[in-house]
Amino acid sequence: MSITEAFGEFRTGKTQLAHTLCVTVQLPPEMGGGNGKAAFIDTEGTFRPERIRAIAARFGIDPDTTLDNITVARAHNSEHQLDLLNELCIRLCEDKQYRLVVVDSIMALFRVDYSGRGELSERQQRLGQMLSKLVRISEEFNIAIYITNQMTADPGATLSFAADTKKPIGGHVLAHASATRLYLKKGRGETRVCKIWDSPDVPEAECTYQITTGGIND
Ligand code: ADP
Ligand code: MG
Repeated sequence: MSITEAFGEFRTGKTQLAHTLCVTVQLPPEMGGGNGKAAFIDTEGTFRPERIRAIAARFGIDPDTTLDNITVARAHNSEHQLDLLNELCIRLCEDKQYRLVVVDSIMALFRVDYSGRGELSERQQRLGQMLSKLVRISEEFNIAIYITNQMTADPGATLSFAADTKKPIGGHVLAHASATRLYLKKGRGETRVCKIWDSPDVPEAECTYQITTGGIND
């Protein structure tokens, strides 16, 4: 019944986590799942059915059924992204089995559509509308929302090692809507680190994980 946001650099596993969740949400509650369906709004063209099949195999569930339980829609611009959410609401009313909605990524199209300096307040206003819709969906239909987000370019990157001056984009509007914020970053070798950046019910903590053929593995 709330939004969880994962932000981090390119290739930290945000999209792989989205795919993994689309499978694990279908597992029975005894296995930590939600026994439900997933909806995936893809703004970057990164949804891959073959990844779903491989992750389903890891959890020992039928790959075809698993794919059938995931509704995927490709958004082409920010207005279309909002239209798709409106369409999704109709589907959620008709089919109460959905337990997860993914938006990967929440900001990418807004960044393209409102790239001018003077357009920031308009962008934030439209973003706010979309996020209120997502919050409403999560509460009304008892659904987990997972969104991915990018980080600001680090202006000091070439001058210093101050990588932590980077932060998620989307400003206060996004910070306010996301109940739980996870910071994903590269760790040693092939490992990655997930840090709880902000949460209303979990202490600040971090864990390591790896991206495997069977999805995110901790
Ligand atoms: P992000 O969305 O954060 O940019 P992704 O979720 O797309 O990142 O993760 C990309 C990473 O996942 C790459 O480092 C890639 O090597 C790894 N990856 C993709 N597919 C597989 C796979 N089948 N097995 C293992 N690693 C994979
Ligand atoms: Mg991605």
